[in-house]
Amino acid sequence: MSIEYRAAVLHAAQTPLTVETVIADGLKRNDVLVRIKAAGLCHTDLEVITGSLRYPTPIVLGHEAAGVVEEIGPEARGVSVGDHVVLSWNPHCGHCFYCDRDLPILCETYLAQGPKAVGFDGDSRARLADGRELKQLMFIGGFGEYAVVADHQAIVVPKELPFDRACLIGCGVMTGVGAALNIARIAYGDTVMVIGCGAVGLSAVQGARLAGAGQIIAVDLDGDKLALAERVGATLTVNARNQDPIAVAKARTGGRGVDVVLEAAGSAAGFRTAVEAVRPGGEVVWLGKVDVETEVSFRWGSLMAERRIRRSSYGGARPARDFPLLARAYLDGRLFLDELITRHIPLAEINDGFAALKAGEAIRSVVMF
Ligand SMILES: [Zn+2]
Ligand SMILES: [Zn+2]
Repeated sequence: MSIEYRAAVLHAAQTPLTVETVIADGLKRNDVLVRIKAAGLCHTDLEVITGSLRYPTPIVLGHEAAGVVEEIGPEARGVSVGDHVVLSWNPHCGHCFYCDRDLPILCETYLAQGPKAVGFDGDSRARLADGRELKQLMFIGGFGEYAVVADHQAIVVPKELPFDRACLIGCGVMTGVGAALNIARIAYGDTVMVIGCGAVGLSAVQGARLAGAGQIIAVDLDGDKLALAERVGATLTVNARNQDPIAVAKARTGGRGVDVVLEAAGSAAGFRTAVEAVRPGGEVVWLGKVDVETEVSFRWGSLMAERRIRRSSYGGARPARDFPLLARAYLDGRLFLDELITRHIPLAEINDGFAALKAGEAIRSVVMF
């Protein structure tokens, strides 16, 4: 197999993506060729474009994608040609120190190969028309008509799930819902605060709802995003431009603070607010991120009484277990995904899509192929 297809290529940070013809050659043993049908624009892609996340170039970004299996390598397992799949960006070896401890997100091979932006075995799967090796972000490279991934990255989902909704499960939804269901320990009736109502935060609100939280307090600086938070399950919204989330957290809980804070804003202020708003003995999960060189400071007093603080990057994802569950929750009307999609765009408009994301005007723009 050798296939030519159109993909959006980043040649250098702080330059626009260019849509061009690229080439993928031959499937290796466990490879799967996926015809991409939809791919969401995530903040992590934007961080690579702006340069706050450094990756080698030229590279195809995109790590929140869904499509159809078109061809499989001779030893690929778990998928068949024609399957509809959501792609996972956390391939893992299954037998290293961390995999043995049930932490695939820290898999040693995953962490070693990730920064190189290649396939899971260390080799790139595509090249530019001039022959130069093409990198693929997070083992996927979803902003193209095709992607070659490892078999266990391609998770089969029901065919009735539309591709534009399906792709969201691969990153933002898994990260947010998973943080509430797999990472935080939310007891029935708990008061949960979600800081930041982008795709991850709106998913965290829903995870808190699915976990049985009593009150769900959504915090953002944008009234439109707060309105969406209400539609997907927030019981109270706080616009931090004119209301202090810490004061609200205390006022709603007899002065103690909330049981759990899920921080999805990705700002130093958000990290600090999370720690101040949670009650003694409560739990904070940081989902957002800032530039790796950014220093974040805390008032020591806010850390004095015992608190459990966690950082989570993929919501404790077990994609093979969780993606089908999330797909089913959507199809059964328990998980809202339509609300996360701001607009559908063709690949040619991907730079406009990122401009909207940067300006905070979009929850998710989804590229349709
Ligand atoms: Zn993402
Ligand atoms: Zn491993």
